[in-house]
Amino acid sequence: MTDQSATTGVTDRPHGTGVAGTTASTTGPIGSTDTPILDHLDRRAPSSPCLVLDLAVVRRRHEQLRSALPDARICYAVKANPMPEVVAELVRLGASFDVASTGEIDLCLRQGAAAENLSYGNTIKKRADIAYAHECGVRLFATDSEPDLDAIADSAPGASVFCRVHVDNTGSRTPFGRKFGCRPDHAARLLTRARELGLDAYGVSFHIGSQQLEPDAWEHGLAAVRDVFEQVAGLDVRMVNIGGGLPAAHTDDAPELADYAARIESSLDDHFGSARPELLIEPGRYLVGDAGVVRSEVVLATEDREPDRRWIYLDVGRYRGLAETEGEAIGYRIRTSRDGDPVGPAVLAGPTCDGDDVLYQHTLYDMPITLRAGDHVDLLSAGAYTASYSSVCFNGFPPLATHCFDSERRERP
Ligand SMILES: *Cc1c(COP(=O)(O)O)cnc(C)c1O
Repeated sequence: MTDQSATTGVTDRPHGTGVAGTTASTTGPIGSTDTPILDHLDRRAPSSPCLVLDLAVVRRRHEQLRSALPDARICYAVKANPMPEVVAELVRLGASFDVASTGEIDLCLRQGAAAENLSYGNTIKKRADIAYAHECGVRLFATDSEPDLDAIADSAPGASVFCRVHVDNTGSRTPFGRKFGCRPDHAARLLTRARELGLDAYGVSFHIGSQQLEPDAWEHGLAAVRDVFEQVAGLDVRMVNIGGGLPAAHTDDAPELADYAARIESSLDDHFGSARPELLIEPGRYLVGDAGVVRSEVVLATEDREPDRRWIYLDVGRYRGLAETEGEAIGYRIRTSRDGDPVGPAVLAGPTCDGDDVLYQHTLYDMPITLRAGDHVDLLSAGAYTASYSSVCFNGFPPLATHCFDSERRERP
């Protein structure tokens, strides 16, 4: 990943105009959403750094997805951005929600979501949390292992379950690795067992990795789902959950939503024909990514440290919302308050005393050579997986508690 971007040398687009901010002024693959947010930022001048989200963009993306895949039930993956206003807006639009923890369940219920519109999509959960969800009225659970399935059967008797299969994440900028999902034959066994345990063996899910740039990726997932369906004929397994993965307008060239939708529709036809199962989709990044801009400020801009490489240090970094720059996986489009001035390549880094708090050093960004402390640097399409990683409650899990002790002092009895 890192090596690849080292040679790719992605910079502002279109390349070679010699003017900063051309990245920001391109509309990106999904249509420009930046201008109202930037205007808002300039008018309100909130203190830096901050993320500003435009709910209108969330509404537009939701509507676009609904028209592109009219049969799909849209479950917003709350972890992408758990702002209560975002959840409330999506409740108003009739969306469902993919939740991963009791914290996210509480959040959605507080914002008016109905429990039957929540899908507990995390395959890793404590019995007590399953019981809590069930008590709240949640009736839909993901699973990919026997112990988790048994826990669901015990703590949420009669619930509907879907089994997550592992599929290849090639084409994703932030793949899931092997953390989630089982093989299709294992999924078939789990669904059979679910039925024996008195659960509703409802469906099969997969996730082809976030910021997936290859519409064909869903074909692999749907082929795996079909494989499971064939093995469980007679069990009334009747839903396919095609996960998230739809892109936001980062620096990579992502296809249009219509291309993804066409590929998904044709794969559904190929594999299921007229016996199409119910369809569920779990967009996270697609709904909120383009709805947000992170405004930051230059703390320090050095002269060339190495030949042809200035270092520009911002007041945001890896630990304050830009976690997805790890491995330079996500390349944000950037706009600065000195766009139009001559540019030169720069390394972008965060402000902390951590050597890993560097945003882009292999992917060189062309930045105005006039940039100095106090100037704005805006990261566009940064509404997903920024504030939520930076928050003290990522994914609804409270922050790690800190306990202090002194090994040279005796504990009080
Ligand atoms: C994070 C997550 C999503 C959302 O993925 P995006 O790539 O942001 O669309 C969907 N489903 C599950 C189970 C997830 O964990």
